[in-house]
Amino acid sequence: MPTYDYQCKKCGEVFEAMHRLDQPAPPCPHCGEPRPQRLISPVAFKTTGDPTATRVEAEIKKRLGQGRSRDALTLAEKASRIAGNRKGMGKIKAARDKLRGHLGKDT
Ligand SMILES: [Zn+2]
Repeated sequence: MPTYDYQCKKCGEVFEAMHRLDQPAPPCPHCGEPRPQRLISPVAFKTTGDPTATRVEAEIKKRLGQGRSRDALTLAEKASRIAGNRKGMGKIKAARDKLRGHLGKDT
């Protein structure tokens, strides 16, 4: 089943939901808004199939989008340690390595 990223129009919450394409979007888990907006994500971030890995990737991407590279690296490091053997974590490790190279290894 595919996962989709949504953003709530009301409270701004970004969340991920797994459902079939012909099923309606779930309500916002934060405020209950029934019609969140689907976010179109790059294909590269939608191929892992592991919800945890996908969520972590989305969070890393969000932090990067906000210019918080060091926070993104911290998250990638933590995720790699905790869930290093999970399916789909390869890309997070790759992102971590890239960020390490970018920010320096002493972080
Ligand atoms: Zn909401």
